[in-house]
Amino acid sequence: MKLWYPYRQMKDLGQVPVMVAGKGTAMILEDGRRLTDGISSWWAVIHGYNHPDINNALIEQINSFSHVMLGGLSHPPALALADKLVEITPAGLNHVFYSDSGSVGVEVALKMALQYWKNTGHVGKHKIISLKNGYHGDTFKAMEVGDDSDFSNAFVDVLHRGYFLDTPAGGFDADAATIQQEASKLEDLLKIHAPEIACFILEPIVQCAGGFRIYSPLYLKAARALCDQYNILLVLDEVATGFGRTGKLFAADHAGITPDIMIIGKALTAGYMGHAATLATTRIFNGFLGDSYDKALMHGPTFMGNPLATTVALKSIEIIEKDHYLERIAAINAVIRNEFEKIESPAIADKRIVGAIGAIELKEDSMMAGFRDYAMANGAWLRPIGKVMYVMPAYIITDDELRKLIWIMRDWISHIYANG
Ligand code: PMP
Repeated sequence: MKLWYPYRQMKDLGQVPVMVAGKGTAMILEDGRRLTDGISSWWAVIHGYNHPDINNALIEQINSFSHVMLGGLSHPPALALADKLVEITPAGLNHVFYSDSGSVGVEVALKMALQYWKNTGHVGKHKIISLKNGYHGDTFKAMEVGDDSDFSNAFVDVLHRGYFLDTPAGGFDADAATIQQEASKLEDLLKIHAPEIACFILEPIVQCAGGFRIYSPLYLKAARALCDQYNILLVLDEVATGFGRTGKLFAADHAGITPDIMIIGKALTAGYMGHAATLATTRIFNGFLGDSYDKALMHGPTFMGNPLATTVALKSIEIIEKDHYLERIAAINAVIRNEFEKIESPAIADKRIVGAIGAIELKEDSMMAGFRDYAMANGAWLRPIGKVMYVMPAYIITDDELRKLIWIMRDWISHIYANG
């Protein structure tokens, strides 16, 4: 096998389906099969495949130029997108640094946080707090703050771990006492270790790759307040949650807070190509101003701000706004709630829903064996994470298509039950 696939033991790879065309939510395979994509290609393809308006914007830009370095040069889409991102992200995130993937966007965010303290004369703030079950990417620093051993087991000897707090308990609607209890875990840590801590990084509202664990906006509010009180930066990784996925344009909007640094990716470029942006407040940005390169952010991926990527992002945001996607996401949420309510089985450990995400956790990993093939045989592309099956569709999915995806999940679960 010449092509080395991700997250796979290549020894028993088996047959890999080959997609030859896409249209809307449909993935058309080489053998003519048509699958409805239930997970928007790792949560990126929010407008579906082959969107005519995005295609046209892209073709126009290709006919002008496809790439130019951002080192010492600029171009209209990069400038316009920076303006747009500042406008739509939480107030105060006034500066945009582009990169080429979510993982690199996280690296940039952590570099910003660590160097900010160095630049401003705070010595020894080197450690990072993150959450258990968090995932921030596969590059080294991103792995260090992530908590899934499947991704980082091979590297435990070289990772410099910081502090990990429990995933906040109580779900989206956690009561005040639970929030208080969870926040006190953060405060207990900060009381002792704040002088050595640079930042707290977390996926706001829902930890996606860690199994769609949802927590309360009130925890985010408490984290914001404690970070301010103890002089720690708050970094929100919105790579998965950004652009409407949790029901607000950004998950931070549920809490009405502004992080010091925020990372967006995935849906930023609607699945057309890889790109990310790390946004910072003016306080952080100003910490990098000085008379020499010593204080500058010495980072610059070749394809940062790529004209095609920034063109796609601009068009994508235009569509989100013009087509009232937040209303569409609310409708998707209602369908998921309605259908999930009807799914009951002793095989189910938990059902979790927020925005356009619906996840069902089964009791055992083994209950998921064969699910992907079953979904394919029924015309759907659904790829579980461990014992969690989920839908995270393109926002253009119809209610009927979405129901059918959920019925496939339901039927699989009842099949487990039928087999004891
Ligand atoms: N952060 C989060 C929250 C993610 O879900 C992911 C990707 N699943 C990343 C970072 C890494 O993004 P990428 O795969 O584009 O490097």
